[in-house]
Amino acid sequence: MSELKDLYQEIILDHNKNPRNYGTMPDCTHKAEGYNPMCGDHYSIYLKIENDRIDDVRFDGAGCAISKSSASMMTANLKGKTVEEAKKMFSEFQNMMTSDQPCVEVPEEICTVEPLQGVREFPTRIKCATLIWHTMNNALNGNGESSAE
Ligand code: ZN
Repeated sequence: MSELKDLYQEIILDHNKNPRNYGTMPDCTHKAEGYNPMCGDHYSIYLKIENDRIDDVRFDGAGCAISKSSASMMTANLKGKTVEEAKKMFSEFQNMMTSDQPCVEVPEEICTVEPLQGVREFPTRIKCATLIWHTMNNALNGNGESSAE
């Protein structure tokens, strides 16, 4: 079990050190900002949506390792998804973080890595993991501002 935890830890640290899709996107079609006051995590997400499909995604901002690696993993799995699929992933991810619901829509990379499995033992850190997902969902819904509530 501790070996598994070390593995999760490594994956989180890797995404934290080399976040995927990090940066701004001047020609995005959707964007939103998210803030988690409990930890200080603060990110913006930028989406380029064409024909109901997410063509490109970027995020920037700063926060703890959990929030950043969660953002990195999420964005790495959003490209090419339809808006509907992205929304399903969002609600499933939320359920995954608060219950033992199995993954259906959430890609295996996120599901099996479950960086976040460890996080669930610390309820205050759950918001670190879900912040970017809330922010992404708000961007899809056209709400520019969001928090992790
Ligand atoms: Zn955090």
